[in-house]
Amino acid sequence: MEENIFYCSECGGAVEENDKVCPHCGAALDETAGEEEMEVETAAVFYSDVDAEIAKERLEEAGIKCYLSGSSDGSMRPSLVFSQGINLMVMKKDLKQAVEYLKGLNIIE
Ligand SMILES: [Zn+2]
Repeated sequence: MEENIFYCSECGGAVEENDKVCPHCGAALDETAGEEEMEVETAAVFYSDVDAEIAKERLEEAGIKCYLSGSSDGSMRPSLVFSQGINLMVMKKDLKQAVEYLKGLNIIE
């Protein structure tokens, strides 16, 4: 089984789980830092592209990094978007702030 294949964040080359440095470009592979950075939570779920985009823009104006998951960017099939909505994802550390901010704007309840 080839389950433990990872990819270098610098060059995109295949690396093994236990590699400390990339065998292709020599970049240090710091797994823990990468995971923390990618730790995101759903701040809100929208069922309209427009609402989701508005919320995303408001958060970005407030300096809160966020992205939409499940929107029509190809990350999910349209049929799934309809049933599951569009998730507004924020960094875990920004979750509380993001939710409070959107509540303050009456974008979410
Ligand atoms: Zn590399």
